[in-house]
Amino acid sequence: MSISKDDRVDLQPDDIPTKWYNIAADLPEPLPPPLNPATNKPLRPEDLEAIFPKGAIAQELSVERYIDIPEEVRDAYLMLGRPSPLQRARRLEKYLKTPAKIYFKREDLSPAGSHKPNSAIPQAYLNMKEGVENLTTETGAGQWGSALALSCAHFDLNCEVFMVRSSYDQKPFRRLVMETYGATVHASPSNVTKYGRSVIAKQPEHPGTLGIAITEAVEVCLQQENTKYSLGSVLNHVMLHQTVIGQEVMMQLEQIDTVPDYMVGCVGGGSNFAGFCFPMIGEKIKGKIDTEFIATESVSAPSLTEGELRYDFGDTGKMTPKLKMYTMGCDYVPPAIHAGGLRYHGMAPAVSKVAELGYMKTYAYDQNDTFAAGIAFAQNEGIIPAPESCHAIKGAMDLALEAKKNNEEKVIVFNLSGHGLLDMAGYDRYLRNNL
Ligand SMILES: *Cc1c(COP(=O)(O)O)cnc(C)c1O
Repeated sequence: MSISKDDRVDLQPDDIPTKWYNIAADLPEPLPPPLNPATNKPLRPEDLEAIFPKGAIAQELSVERYIDIPEEVRDAYLMLGRPSPLQRARRLEKYLKTPAKIYFKREDLSPAGSHKPNSAIPQAYLNMKEGVENLTTETGAGQWGSALALSCAHFDLNCEVFMVRSSYDQKPFRRLVMETYGATVHASPSNVTKYGRSVIAKQPEHPGTLGIAITEAVEVCLQQENTKYSLGSVLNHVMLHQTVIGQEVMMQLEQIDTVPDYMVGCVGGGSNFAGFCFPMIGEKIKGKIDTEFIATESVSAPSLTEGELRYDFGDTGKMTPKLKMYTMGCDYVPPAIHAGGLRYHGMAPAVSKVAELGYMKTYAYDQNDTFAAGIAFAQNEGIIPAPESCHAIKGAMDLALEAKKNNEEKVIVFNLSGHGLLDMAGYDRYLRNNL
C-alpha cells in the first residue's frame, strides 16, 4: 500500500487558531438569553459573577464573530498536542466495503484523553487572571474532571471535583488521574454538601447524575471564598472554546481539496459537536457549502430526539440559571450507561437553536450498537474509542453503509472526541454480554 497525502493531514504548530469562532454572529436568530430563575427575566452579567469570572461571562454573552485566543492559552494548546491530525480510516472503509471516504479528527490524543481540555485550559486561565484560587466542578465519565484538574495544575489553581457516583465506582483510574493532577474528588451525591446529603437521605444508593453533581459543585462555589465554578459543556463560552477543533478541520479539508458530505459528532451537552461543526455550519448558513451535520446521542438521554424545547434548569437542585434547550427535564435520571459523558438531561442552548433552525439532524443509539461500532473501529484503526465517541463512529459507519447501498462516493468526517483506555470496564461488560 502506498501512503497518500490525504491519509493523514497534519498542521504546523503555528496553525493553532488565533481566534475562537462564535456562531451567534451568523445565526439568523439571536440565541435565547439565560433567565434568572427568581424573576424569569434575562440575566444581567453581574448575576453570573458569583460563579464565573468576568472574562468567561463576557464570552458567554458575546455576539462578536471572532474572539482572540490569549497567547498563554495557545501555548497550552500546543502542550495538549494541538493542532491534532485529521486521519483517513482506510481499513474501516475496506472492512465496510464502502465507496465512501471516512475521516476522523483526533481529539483522543490530548493528555487528558478527550477534547475537554480545549475549554478547561481557557477557563482555568480566565479565573487565574482574575485572582481566583479555587475551582469547583462536576464530572460524569471523569473526562471533564481530568481536563480541569490538568488545567488547574497548569495555572496553579486548586480543583475540587464532584464525580457522578456510578462513574466513580466504575472508573477508579479516572479518579486517580484527577488526583495525580492534584485535584480533590468526591463521589456525588456526597456528604460534603447540603444538597448531596438531602439526596442521600432519600436514596442512599443513588447512582448520581450530572445534574446533581452540578448542584453540589455550585453550592460549594457559593459558600467558599475566592472560588468559582467551571462547567465542561452546555454554555456558549464552552462551545466557543471548542471551535479550535472545527477551524483546524476546515484548514485540513482545504489542504486535501475536500468538502465533506457529512460531519458527525456525538452529543452529551453538545460541546465537541459544536466545536467540530459550528465553523462549518457558519459556512452552510452563508450558503457556501451543502454539508449535512449529524449529532448522535444515547437513547438513555435522548434530549434532541425526544426532549422538549423550553427553559429548564441546568442542574437537578435548581440553582443554576434557566437555559432554553431541548431537555428531558432537570429531574430526569438517565440509566447508568457506560457513556457517562452522554448522561445529561439537556442540550446546549446553541446546539438546540441550530437544531431548531434545521441545520442538523440527530440519531439516538443504544449502547450495544455503539460498542459494536467502537470495537470494529478499534480492530481496524487500532484506537480504542471512548464509549461516547462510539456513538459518532456508529453514525459514520451507518452513513458509510448507506453510501455502499447507493454506490455513492460520499465523504464522511467524524469527531473522535476521546479514547477509551480508562473505560475498559464498559468494554469488559460488553464483551461478556453483560451490559
Ligand atoms: C464529555 C465527553 C463527551 C460529551 O460531551 P459534549 O459536551 O457533548 O462533547 C463526548 N465525548 C467524550 C470523549 C467526552 O469526554
